[in-house]
Amino acid sequence: MTNRGHWALGIDIGGTNTKVALVGREGLIVALETIPTRTEGSGAQAPELVRRIAESAGRCLQGYPAEAAGVAVAGFVDDGRESMIYNPNLPWLADFPLKSALSRALGMPVLLEVDSNAACLAEYRFGSGRGASRFLCLTAGTGLGGGMVVNGDLLRFTGQCLGDVGHVVLDADGPACSCGGRGCAEALVAQSRIVDQAGCMGGLLDVIQAAREGHLHARSALESAGRALGLLAASLAQIFQPDRIAFAGGLSEAGGLVLDGAQIAFLRNSSDASRDQVRIVTASLGRTSGVIGAAAPLLTEDGGTFGPP
Ligand SMILES: [Zn+2]
Repeated sequence: MTNRGHWALGIDIGGTNTKVALVGREGLIVALETIPTRTEGSGAQAPELVRRIAESAGRCLQGYPAEAAGVAVAGFVDDGRESMIYNPNLPWLADFPLKSALSRALGMPVLLEVDSNAACLAEYRFGSGRGASRFLCLTAGTGLGGGMVVNGDLLRFTGQCLGDVGHVVLDADGPACSCGGRGCAEALVAQSRIVDQAGCMGGLLDVIQAAREGHLHARSALESAGRALGLLAASLAQIFQPDRIAFAGGLSEAGGLVLDGAQIAFLRNSSDASRDQVRIVTASLGRTSGVIGAAAPLLTEDGGTFGPP
């Protein structure tokens, strides 16, 4: 009996850090390493990152017979899912032959995936989306993205994504957005905006801590971001008709400080049909959803069969 399909490598290339993990069949992480995505110096960044991922993967494998790797990365990928066509944080990855370079370095087949899709798939297979038939997962971290699984398959439009759902316009007079538009959901939940509104020193975690200690401006800033997430969910529900929506990413780690506002806005602004049909949940896999979701398509449901990526 072969062990193929019981374990796979999951790699999540983020703007700051890259996670490399050995993931088991139930979505459990056996080994995990985090390495910086960028390196100092003038050398070519992409080949150097590939080299360091392979080193890290060698340590994570520990003799386990994983025979394929999945890679999650932010941005758009080409139709053949061979390379990126756009990466908002790491422009040097665009047009680099990421799939073939990693496959060569790791000595195994590699599957390339958009990070918001990977997070969605991880939650669908192993987390808060289990049992849903139309599952929408919104991930608010550095950016705001989404993935949708319908009857087990990810929906793919532009750049193999669900579309750029973070740039749905929610406020005509809202703040300028990195996309060149104004009032997008992503601009309304941006961590820099939350920190500004809260009037706190530091970053999002400091705002969350201050809100927990009763700081009114911090609470109000997080509630406001939650309302934006709820409005986005209500709008997307009209198009995609999910039966379950999960909120994932760093912002959801604020728990009720963000998600209560999201829930209230969703119930207030969504249609009667959505209010009846959609269950709002909190993602359950945390910051490891990227590596788990990257590996998920390579892990068999029952350990018995394994299809090529
Ligand atoms: Zn935008």
